[in-house]
Amino acid sequence: MAAKIIDGKKISAAVREEIKARAAALTERTGIVPGLAVIIVGENPASQVYVRNKKKACEDAGFYSVVIELPGDTEQKTLLAKIAELKEDPRIHGILVQLPLPEQIDEQAVIAAIPPEKDVDAFHPENVGHILIGDHRFLPCTPAGVMKMLEIEGIPVAGRECVVIGRSNIVGKPMAVLLLQANGTVTVCHSRTKNLPEVTRRADILVSAVGKAGFVTADMVKEGAVVIDVGMNRNAEGKLCGDVDFAAVSEVASAITPVPGGVGVMTITMLLENTLRAAEAKAL
Ligand code: NAP
Repeated sequence: MAAKIIDGKKISAAVREEIKARAAALTERTGIVPGLAVIIVGENPASQVYVRNKKKACEDAGFYSVVIELPGDTEQKTLLAKIAELKEDPRIHGILVQLPLPEQIDEQAVIAAIPPEKDVDAFHPENVGHILIGDHRFLPCTPAGVMKMLEIEGIPVAGRECVVIGRSNIVGKPMAVLLLQANGTVTVCHSRTKNLPEVTRRADILVSAVGKAGFVTADMVKEGAVVIDVGMNRNAEGKLCGDVDFAAVSEVASAITPVPGGVGVMTITMLLENTLRAAEAKAL
C-alpha cells in the first residue's frame, strides 16, 4: 500500500497562521514587531534561495526583516562587527548567519558571537546545552520542524524505535535529542555504522539527514515505518530531491515526507516561531 504523504506545506500553512496571529497580538499589546536579521556571505546559489524564502516568510507573517549581504571575501572581523551591531539593534530579535560560510571565516567563532537570546537557529553552545538539558529557550529549526510534523500528524514517538541517519550538529544530533526527550528509543547512525540497513530496518520512525540522493532504499525500511527525509540534494537532472528513494520507499512505509514540500518548509516555519519567541521574551 502506498504511504501517506506528510504534507509539510499544509502543516506549515496552519502553523504560520497561528504565528501570524500571535505576532499581531504582540504588536497590538506592546508595539513590538518581531524582527529577524539574516546575514549571507558570498554568492552560494542555494543559500541565496533559502535567504529569500526566509525573508518572504517573515514578511508574510507580519515580521520586520532585513537581509545583510556581504561579499565572499569578507573578513571575519567585519562579520563579527556586523553581528555586534545587530546585537544592540532593538528592532532585531533574531540573528541568523546563513551557513556554510567561506573558508576564511571560523564558523564556530561566528556562532559564539551571536547573543544566545537572539540565536534563533539555536546553534550557540549555550542554547545547545539548554536543549540537551531540556529547558530550552529555542529549539533548532529543522529537528523542531520534524517534531512538529509528527505531533500534528498524530504519530506517537514514546516507546518507539527511532533511527536517525546523520550526526551533524545542526540536524542529526539535535534530532536524536528531541526524539529521546519525546521518549523514543533512539539510535544514531553515521558513516562508520556497520550493517546500516540492519539498523534502519529496526526503525518505527526513520529520519535521514545524510545529504545523498537515493541513499535510503526500500530494503532499508521496515514495513509500516514512518520515514522523514531531511536531505536536500540535487539529482543528476539538477532537480531538488531528498535522501530517500521516494517512489520505492512509499510502497513500504506507512507515512513519508516528500522533498520538496516536506521538512524544508517546516524549518522556516520554526525559524518564525523562534523569532516570535525572542520578541515575546522582550515583552515579559
Ligand atoms: P552533514 O553535516 O554533511 O552530515 C551528514 C551526516 O551523514 C554525517 O553525520 C555523516 O556521517 C552521515 N553520512 C554520510 N555518509 C553516510 C553513510 N554512507 N552512511 C551513514 N551515514 C552517512 O549534513 P547536514 O548539514 O546534517 O545535512 C544533511 C542533509 O540535510 C543535507 O542534504 C542538507 O542539505 C539537508 N538539510 C536540510 C534541511 C531542511 O531544512 N530540510 C536543513 C539542514 C540540512 P559522519 O558524521 O560519520 O561523517
